Amino acid sequence: MLRLYNTLSKRLEPFTPLQADQVSMYACGPTVHDYAHIGNFRTFMFVDLLRRYLKFKGYKIRHVMNITDIDDKTIRKSQEQGIPLKEYTELYTRYFLEDLTTLGAELPEHIVPATENIPEMIDLIKRLEANGHTYVSEGSVYYRIASFAEYGKLSGAKLAGNVAGARVDVDEYDKEDARDFVLWKAAKEGEPFWETPYGRGRPGWHLECSAMAMKYLGESFDIHCGGVDLIFPHHENEIAQSEGATGRQFVRFWLHCEHLLVEGQKMSKSLGNYYTLRDLLKLGFSASAIRLLLLSVPYRKQLNFTLETLRGMETRVKKLSDFRRRLKGAPTVDSADTELLLAIAEARKAFEDALDEDLNTSAALAAVADFETSINRALAQGSLSLECKERALRLLSEFDAVFGVLALQSDETESLDEEILRLIEERTAAKAAKNYARADEIRRYLFERGIILEDTKTGVRWRRV
Ligand code: AMP
Ligand code: ZN
Repeated sequence: MLRLYNTLSKRLEPFTPLQADQVSMYACGPTVHDYAHIGNFRTFMFVDLLRRYLKFKGYKIRHVMNITDIDDKTIRKSQEQGIPLKEYTELYTRYFLEDLTTLGAELPEHIVPATENIPEMIDLIKRLEANGHTYVSEGSVYYRIASFAEYGKLSGAKLAGNVAGARVDVDEYDKEDARDFVLWKAAKEGEPFWETPYGRGRPGWHLECSAMAMKYLGESFDIHCGGVDLIFPHHENEIAQSEGATGRQFVRFWLHCEHLLVEGQKMSKSLGNYYTLRDLLKLGFSASAIRLLLLSVPYRKQLNFTLETLRGMETRVKKLSDFRRRLKGAPTVDSADTELLLAIAEARKAFEDALDEDLNTSAALAAVADFETSINRALAQGSLSLECKERALRLLSEFDAVFGVLALQSDETESLDEEILRLIEERTAAKAAKNYARADEIRRYLFERGIILEDTKTGVRWRRV
């Protein structure tokens, strides 16, 4: 039985969705003001693993992700670049979705830009106004947090000590600064605005997620996720907005992913200690190794990023895909091997038990490593039965349905294989034309990439070192 740690109750809870066979989930998407860094992608890969594991458990998924295409940062940066906001955010939305695909993430069923949902946000403000949660000051509409008795229940933010009526206009602030927050901001000179019953203005950041989550998933739904930095104020404010309007529980399970760190500090744009996915690909790392690294530590533990660990992941992914290739091509024997069958069944159980326990990915990966060891022994002895081979391949594909690492690797390997075959042909032609310098150059080039060529009577064969 799957158990998940709920930030709201602060304990592990057995997970069952509202509808028997379908999970409704919302994950806060990117603010499209720049390329996302791999810290952001740690959270997005966690969300992807969650949705894949829920599918593994037999559920259908309805998953919504917003695109924050209007907020303080997007406006400021588009103005600095002199590019209209829409054009600017569309560009970075495209880059973000490209990166997500490069990392092998399944796309959510609904990807929704905030600016396409302004009427829903206005309707939500009207409901909050009718329930006495709002007030207007200098043309902006604010949420009065003292009007929502349960304010602070997610993050533990305290109202005590806050001056009544003190307000905050910026999108991000600290827990010690819990104050009335802005729902609708009065238009400022040079900023984009919408005409509304509250005058010209634009939405505050927190409003969009409440409005869009409820539009696509209903007033109550199963899972809401994001990075831990969103617990306050973003998710606390989402609860106040949604429950303040509906009087019903907004989200049943709140799940938060811990940060990716660099030398003990959060990887972030503002600290400048970040790599984008594209930076790492340019350095020659593969998307599959980056994905495995981001998933290698359970999501509620911090993960310290180093290039050295990433190099280790390259080796791990290569070993895993070599293992799959050898297993696929392995000859089988007729005799049964009950011990190995048992070891495979145990590995499958250990894999599922680990993920059932709040998605313990490192324990799940350890189960896969044990399974590899058992199979490797049978491969070395040439004692693999057909039944063991089929079950082992099935387990490997179940593993990858959740981790999505080998699927990426085979794309990468296939394109490498094509390049190798092309170069071998070129080398054969160079030798025929007595251009031995070129032929040697190709041999060396491939050797540096871990490929050894062997000239045999029947032609050139190649193998990986
Ligand atoms: P943003 O585009 O800033 O709204 O962030 C997108 C997602 O990335 C949010 O869920 C953040 O909580 C998450 N995030 C930001 N920095 C990190 C980090 N260093 N490690 C993990 N997740 C992060
Ligand atoms: Zn959000």
